[in-house]
Amino acid sequence: MIERIVQSLKKERKNPFCAYIYDLSKLRHHVNQLMGTLPQVCRLFYAIKANSDLSLLKALVPIVHGFEAASLGEIEKIRAVDEKIPILFGGPGKTEEEIAGAMDYGVSLLHVESVHELQLVNYIAAQKGISQAILLRVNLNHSVPNAQLKMAGVPTQFGMEEGKIPSAISLVQSLSNVKLHGFHFHAMSNNVDGKTHAEFVDHCFGTAKRWQKEWHLDLSYLNVGGGIGINYREIEHQFNWGDFIQRLEHVLEKHRDSGYKVLFECGRYITSSCGYYAAEVLDIKQNHGQTFCVIRGGSHHFRLPAAWKQSHPFTIIPIEKWVYPFERPEIKETIITVAGELCTPNDILAREVPVSCLRAGDILLFHYAGAYGWAISHHEFLSHPHPEHFYIE
Ligand SMILES: *Cc1c(COP(=O)(O)O)cnc(C)c1O
Repeated sequence: MIERIVQSLKKERKNPFCAYIYDLSKLRHHVNQLMGTLPQVCRLFYAIKANSDLSLLKALVPIVHGFEAASLGEIEKIRAVDEKIPILFGGPGKTEEEIAGAMDYGVSLLHVESVHELQLVNYIAAQKGISQAILLRVNLNHSVPNAQLKMAGVPTQFGMEEGKIPSAISLVQSLSNVKLHGFHFHAMSNNVDGKTHAEFVDHCFGTAKRWQKEWHLDLSYLNVGGGIGINYREIEHQFNWGDFIQRLEHVLEKHRDSGYKVLFECGRYITSSCGYYAAEVLDIKQNHGQTFCVIRGGSHHFRLPAAWKQSHPFTIIPIEKWVYPFERPEIKETIITVAGELCTPNDILAREVPVSCLRAGDILLFHYAGAYGWAISHHEFLSHPHPEHFYIE
């Protein structure tokens, strides 16, 4: 279906094709499925930094429990689509203006990342005469072994290391304008293994319960973060949600006594699959024994593969039309590297991929481009035109 849509969009255009395409019905279907299978004590929030496109946010508002924001700008984007939907606010280095703004917008939970920030949040809440609900962000001693990016278990700027949590708790207990509701454990990105993810949730429960008991805390929330991944290398082997939910049910049963609500704040896993980046092949050439396919577009639109130095999966959409009076560049049964139009050797989207047939003028369709694609890219580098953005139902 998406192939035919791209072919007909291309027919209407003279210039080389370059676009992001978001399939909103696919997004709704996917997230409805997640929500439909989520255990009762769980809540699913969308971490909007993965993609804060307005149309995607609008599509998600009626489906998810809420959104996770990492800046005042993100909070404003959320409030522009819904005045009331619950917002979780996290991220390192929050400014006084951001914290005050977040309180004015009525964020449900504020994730506190350091002892200094704890003091600042309490100070601002006192000025406003309110009590702010908070979670303390924990930087665990161990992370999940096979996740691609680790925010915990290794030295990072996120949260407070486990050993410092007791002193943060005792500080909270001395402050009058913050109320501790639980802990926040976002620790990884792109974990494609449901078993280790469920084990991680179990570990978070154990850690929070230990502190609760020791400090006689009254806790309601366990935020286990996001980090559920996409397998970009073998797209047929994705995170097995059904298997994860089964394992999660066991973990929840084991910790039923806690009464915690479990918050998930997923980005990648929610919007990745609904997005496509389509880019026309401008040139095909051989240099020093390798075949390069140069596309209209590149890492300035879709930085994810270059940022992670990985090959991004794509399919080829054949375009029959050829307008020039000279021969069309064409290769058969060749291994290609896909490069963008930027003047840097880092502008590579896929490396050493076998293709059966490819011609200049065909279109490459990159799949799983809906998260950390356009949102993380350096759009102005080289001042090429931006891609078009299409939303299909
Ligand atoms: C980025 C981020 C998320 C979302 O991570 P994904 O890997 O996209 O699921 C969730 N929580 C926090 C605190 C984050 O920084």
